[in-house]
Amino acid sequence: MNKSKIWMDGKLVNFDDANVHVLTHGLHYGSGVFEGIRVYNNENGRGIFRLREHMQRFLNSAKCISMPVPYSLEQLCEACREVVRAAGPEGDYLRPISFWGLSPTGNIGVNPLKCPVNTVIACTHMGAYMGAEQLERGANIITSSWEKPSNRAALLNAKVSGNYINSVVARIEAVKRGADEALMLNSEGNVAEGTGENLFMVKTGRIFTPPMTAGILEGITRDCIMAIARDKGFEVIERDITRSELYVADEVFMTGTAAEVTPVRTIDDHVIGEGRAGPKTRSIQQTFAAAVKGDLPKYEHWLDVV
Ligand code: PMP
Repeated sequence: MNKSKIWMDGKLVNFDDANVHVLTHGLHYGSGVFEGIRVYNNENGRGIFRLREHMQRFLNSAKCISMPVPYSLEQLCEACREVVRAAGPEGDYLRPISFWGLSPTGNIGVNPLKCPVNTVIACTHMGAYMGAEQLERGANIITSSWEKPSNRAALLNAKVSGNYINSVVARIEAVKRGADEALMLNSEGNVAEGTGENLFMVKTGRIFTPPMTAGILEGITRDCIMAIARDKGFEVIERDITRSELYVADEVFMTGTAAEVTPVRTIDDHVIGEGRAGPKTRSIQQTFAAAVKGDLPKYEHWLDVV
């Protein structure tokens, strides 16, 4: 296990000392906000991928749930750099999280406003999220029997811990059915996203992805992929996508910090296209892989090198 030091409320502590009380508000009610950020090693150092955008989304998530995170964007970015500098070479994924902690009176009511806000940043090992073979040959995914909560029910643009129980049960369902990942439909029956990824479809030479209003997290990888695709001259359209449209798409792929660009091979046992990464997926995947390594000057500004 990677036992790098962990940043807790302003200082680095040993991995084994990074503990919280069992009556922590966030543990009971999912009242936390978090991020996932990749760290890519290259010859110049360790590149933290789109650090500022991730920490801005972190503060925005906190704002959505009225959580007063006691650090500025700059302080949070610097804390992430400090954690990466202290981490071993296997540390490839940063996990910042702020959560409401133990109430000074020990009260465990739902109201968190008297609880402190604790902030933790860890650097851990992620590797290939769905597996190296899935990155290469494509993932087999299923449509979850669980729907995504609607924008009426949840703050879906915020990366809030409590939102993730929906992803957790869907992911368990996928694993039990022998699939790599689950696709979540929204309350309209349209495609939303994966349990931790955005989704893209290639059809008639154009690239489609669900809009924010479909109830998705505004993925930072999604933003990179749209930029890369447009730079290649591909047309990218944000519009609703139906489940059966995906079955007959030419190509489907998922994107996320952990999943990077993962081609989709089958959905509910329907083979997508030729049953392997299609040409547009492969082209975008290769450019993204070169960009994160710092090999492409055009996208160098996406890396914060420490
Ligand atoms: N949707 C959900 C629900 C997620 O958890 C993630 C991972 N953060 C994504 C999409 C992809 O977002 P990003 O590219 O910023 O990692």
